[in-house]
Amino acid sequence: MPRSPCSPSCTTVHPDPPVRHNGLVDADVIVIGAGALGLSTALHCAMSGRSVAVVERHTAGSQASGRAAGLFKSIQADDLRTRLARRSITKAVTFADWAGTPLAVTRPGSFLIARTAQHREFLQRELAQSGRWGVDVREATPAKLSYYQPIGDAFALWCPEDVYIEEPLSLIRACLAACQRHGAVVAENEPVIGIAVSAGRVAGVETQHRSITAPVVVDAAGGWVRHVADLAGARVPVATVRHQLLITEPTGQVDPADPIVRVVDAAVYLRPARGGLMVGGFESEPLPVDPRQQPASFTTDDVPLDVDVLRRLAGQVSAEAPAASSAPVAEHRGGLFTMSPDGRFVAGPVPDLPGLWVASGCNGSGFSSSLAIGEALAAWITGDAPAGMTALSPGRFGPLPDDTLISRGLWQYAHYYDPTGLDLD
Ligand SMILES: Cc1cc2nc3c(=O)[nH]c(=O)nc-3n(C[C@H](O)[C@H](O)[C@H](O)COP(=O)(O)OP(=O)(O)OC[C@H]3O[C@@H](n4cnc5c(N)ncnc54)[C@H](O)[C@@H]3O)c2cc1C
Repeated sequence: MPRSPCSPSCTTVHPDPPVRHNGLVDADVIVIGAGALGLSTALHCAMSGRSVAVVERHTAGSQASGRAAGLFKSIQADDLRTRLARRSITKAVTFADWAGTPLAVTRPGSFLIARTAQHREFLQRELAQSGRWGVDVREATPAKLSYYQPIGDAFALWCPEDVYIEEPLSLIRACLAACQRHGAVVAENEPVIGIAVSAGRVAGVETQHRSITAPVVVDAAGGWVRHVADLAGARVPVATVRHQLLITEPTGQVDPADPIVRVVDAAVYLRPARGGLMVGGFESEPLPVDPRQQPASFTTDDVPLDVDVLRRLAGQVSAEAPAASSAPVAEHRGGLFTMSPDGRFVAGPVPDLPGLWVASGCNGSGFSSSLAIGEALAAWITGDAPAGMTALSPGRFGPLPDDTLISRGLWQYAHYYDPTGLDLD
């Protein structure tokens, strides 16, 4: 079969167009969306011996996953998320061993810093519970770093397990190469425009080019997850919310070996990046952006960015990290988080429509938890639900009106580093 790469940036080799559009007519599993969650699910299904087709509207990693900060965080708000986050860290640092293709991971650890009494208490609770859940986390005096000089009596936790991937597309490329190695086919520039349902269960997808049949279809369409679910008359309980970060020009002062810093009271994260500093954070009045209400051509490039939001966030740590506010900006990027009402992933089978699965509800951790979520979903699709995973079922909220979904999603976003006090009623 003749084969050729689909684009200069894509490492996957696809059949040449005439074969590609007509050749693949059935699979065991179809994954819609080649972001981190979709590719990981596809890879793990292929590694379980299933025939897998991934269908991507644009190019792999071109939407949220390619914009991520690349941060992996071992401290999470509950036992299940902690397990998934730590499993993902292990899978990332051992990627070549189990997937057979290399992945560069930076392993500098992280500081979580609190500068107020309230946030000190919050971190003390995190220390106690995360320790119980097996995380290696210790109380520490905030260290003086090349880019962050602590002031006063700030409280800190040291999280030696935390890592980052410098350029998020390297995870996508590693997954693409591993998919190819394990026989999963990735078709880019091929939007799914319909989901076939027969005798009350999913039967495959319609793309702009062809029909593909499969008994299992996974909706991993990121910011478009609800749009895709709508094609099958299903509902996914997430709200899409803007998130942004910037990378400064190289400053000559940032030590690339320095750890990640998260200042919880400011809701800001910082890390070395390309010789400069990456600055991201969580605005207290986040912006919901629903792609379903945008023109069909809407992509992540159309998410409205506002550098003033990041400037205000950086201003809160300007005494400790002056470069965050003062260094010239080399890159400003953003995209959409899929936020769920309880801050947990939405992953599992869709109720009332056998064969349709969802991998979504990233709540800002979809990139870093993708390797564990994909592994768990593949195990579930091909067998039983792994321990605890039913807690992430898409049906767990029952019917929720959109305004409730949005208000809860915005709350979760604004409280990313401090998820206390949520009134679910
Ligand atoms: C600025 C920023 C920083 C972030 N930082 C981090 C971080 O440090 N750590 C972390 O864990 N997470 C981070 N995130 C969140 C993370 O990027 C997401 O959780 C994750 O990438 C979601 O992956 P995904 O596969 O669900 O979505 P995506 O990467 O968006 O992939 C979904 C894919 O589905 C495709 N698609 C949509 N509709 C269709 C269709 N009809 N047919 C076919 N394909 C379709 C899209 O084109 C897209 O490629 C960040 C996000 C942003 C925006």
